[in-house]
Amino acid sequence: MSEAASENGYSIALTDRRLVAEGTMAFYFEKPAGFVFAPGQFIDLTLPQPSETDTEGDTRAFSIASAPQESTLMLATRLRDTAFKRELQRMPLGSTVRVEGPFGKLVLHADRTRPAVFLAGGIGITPFRSMVVHGAMQKLPQRMFLFYSNRRPEDAPFLEELQTLQRQNPRYTFVGTMTESEKSARGWQGETGYINATLLAKHLANIEKPIYYVVGPPGMVDALRTMLKEARIDESDVRTEKFAGY
Ligand SMILES: Cc1cc2nc3c(=O)[nH]c(=O)nc-3n(C[C@H](O)[C@H](O)[C@H](O)COP(=O)(O)OP(=O)(O)OC[C@H]3O[C@@H](n4cnc5c(N)ncnc54)[C@H](O)[C@@H]3O)c2cc1C
Repeated sequence: MSEAASENGYSIALTDRRLVAEGTMAFYFEKPAGFVFAPGQFIDLTLPQPSETDTEGDTRAFSIASAPQESTLMLATRLRDTAFKRELQRMPLGSTVRVEGPFGKLVLHADRTRPAVFLAGGIGITPFRSMVVHGAMQKLPQRMFLFYSNRRPEDAPFLEELQTLQRQNPRYTFVGTMTESEKSARGWQGETGYINATLLAKHLANIEKPIYYVVGPPGMVDALRTMLKEARIDESDVRTEKFAGY
């Protein structure tokens, strides 16, 4: 076991990595003993001795994409051509990284009678995967709606899993939407276009007092915040997290 706790976090070993969409990889790490987190939180991951580095340094924030009930810590990221991500992809399995956290307040609201509406763009899905897997495994009474926007199905991490979870959890609804479905080789039967007020109204009729969660690249989060404001959603019912760096 390479896992070791210290004042500044944990050293944990990389155990696996898998492509979860085109150009998008999930990384699995040992979960340190005693590491407790709420679905939606993130960690800071540092590469201890990278063979290359750049001006952005050796640390990045990542939402934890696995649920607390799962045995490993899983993160997912777009494989952009940066020193940090090149290193993450070529590190041999068993290599250790430093992790600090968990951090963040984007966690499920306590009032289980109020539905949760998740609005995700692309890689912004990571904290919501943790929440919806948690909801299914814990049989949470809370209604959950996931609106998930990508260019094409090929670009959408965890797509099949997020669709299939509806069978396990009747209180969870998945609404995928593709903005460039015509470029897909797979075909797409679901919604098309951006997440907007019309799409929300179509799927949220008769839903009372939801709390909205918006995660993704900064431009997308700002656009959806404006859309919710124009739809007269109270700002106190909207929680957001921006993936700075995209
Ligand atoms: C709370 C929080 C949670 C996050 N969770 C996740 C997560 O779950 N998954 C995840 O992937 N990221 C997450 N991020 C973002 C993550 O921390 C990185 O910033 C991001 O992955 C970009 O890292 P990078 O190494 O690709 O680019 P960096 O080296 O950090 O890029 C620095 C700058 O260069 C630009 N840049 C880099 N490469 C390109 C490119 N190919 N094309 C255009 N511009 C480029 C970026 O826009 C940025 O301005 C999170 C951020 C926060 C704050």
